[in-house]
Amino acid sequence: MAQSAPLFIRIVASSIAAANKAGKIVRDVMNKGDLGIIDKGKNDLQTEGDRSAQRCILASISKQFPGVTIIGEEETDSCEVPADWIVTESDEHVLKLDCPEEYQSATESDIVVWVDPLDGTAEYTQGFLDHVTILIGIAVRNRAVGGVIHQPFYSSGDSEKLGRTLWGIVGAGVGGFTPAHVPDGKRIITTTRSHLTPTVQAAVDAINPDQVLKVGGAGHKVLLLLEGKANAYMYPTPGTKRWDTCAPEAVLHAMGGKLTDMYGNFYSYAKDTPVANSDGVLATAKADDHKYYLQVISSVVKPAS
Ligand code: AMP
Ligand code: MG
Ligand code: MG
Repeated sequence: MAQSAPLFIRIVASSIAAANKAGKIVRDVMNKGDLGIIDKGKNDLQTEGDRSAQRCILASISKQFPGVTIIGEEETDSCEVPADWIVTESDEHVLKLDCPEEYQSATESDIVVWVDPLDGTAEYTQGFLDHVTILIGIAVRNRAVGGVIHQPFYSSGDSEKLGRTLWGIVGAGVGGFTPAHVPDGKRIITTTRSHLTPTVQAAVDAINPDQVLKVGGAGHKVLLLLEGKANAYMYPTPGTKRWDTCAPEAVLHAMGGKLTDMYGNFYSYAKDTPVANSDGVLATAKADDHKYYLQVISSVVKPAS
């Protein structure tokens, strides 16, 4: 019954509703035309879309789950949000799922919610709107196990109805998309388009891929893995943060893929963990393929001493 769903399931179900609302806010900012761009550092932008979406998601989740740690990408100066930005609905389908046993008794102190309110900000400012996602990752005892990926500008053909939400819970399934894989015999790699380095390019070249998809956002790149458009996401260099990978990692693992650092280690998503993914990202649509890509990367990138 909905009321008695375990806390972890209730947080995932509420995150879906919050991500949908944040998606509407991100579209509204774009439609108004004033993005309010701030440069947070080298090649690291923030817009009114990032700020407002984060306020909406944090206010919505913390209102319902006040004891849960939520870590968002943006430093916002105000916690004030319009009343209609506080969403307290939940996804009914997810609420009814059977919660995997390991998470049934998870308490507020076991859970950390990692929020990237707008992933692919550079692409948002440049008009590559299908690269933009909103990411809410739910970690239980250090591991990324629940994920929500909202794509605010996704169009299924009906321009009046933009946006879609994908979710995954490790051990319980995925929703909002049809899982697929690249046909056997083809090797398609996805990597960054706005943070390319010689090391990243060398690793991609070492795979000798049939095709390379340089797209924005960690969320969008994992989406390409989920829908059978790429076999692997390679970014063997620092740059992404825990909020970029928590939700994508959980959805990918829920459908049988694998996301780790470039040495094959899982990142911790505990509340006191460093936020930087200092050892890069390697994700494959099929967990069995992961070892092959690790081997190739190790021939290009020297292990950290
Ligand atoms: P990208 O693959 O370049 O679109 O990056 C995926 C996510 O990681 C986005 O949120 C980027 O802002 C972030 N990111 C990746 N590399 C860097 C970097 N060198 N500096 C700042 N942010 C980065
Ligand atoms: Mg991001
Ligand atoms: Mg972001």
